[in-house]
Amino acid sequence: MKVEECRHTVKCDTSGCKNFAKYYISTRGFLKNEFAFCEECLKSLYSELAKLFVPRAIESHFKPDRITRRRKNEKAE
Ligand SMILES: [Zn+2]
Repeated sequence: MKVEECRHTVKCDTSGCKNFAKYYISTRGFLKNEFAFCEECLKSLYSELAKLFVPRAIESHFKPDRITRRRKNEKAE
């Protein structure tokens, strides 16, 4: 799935919105091929999605407990 800037003059797909689309979401044929959104509707969609999915930090190889354990070992030596 990709979000790209809309290069064609198409209406926003949101029901009742009369703006022209600025972005489209390509689903590669999974649902409808493309959904076009104006900036206002896409921001509204983004804030609704943010309620469902809270971004998490990328998992690191250096876990805090490992680092403190290693530092304790270094001090012991
Ligand atoms: Zn719209």
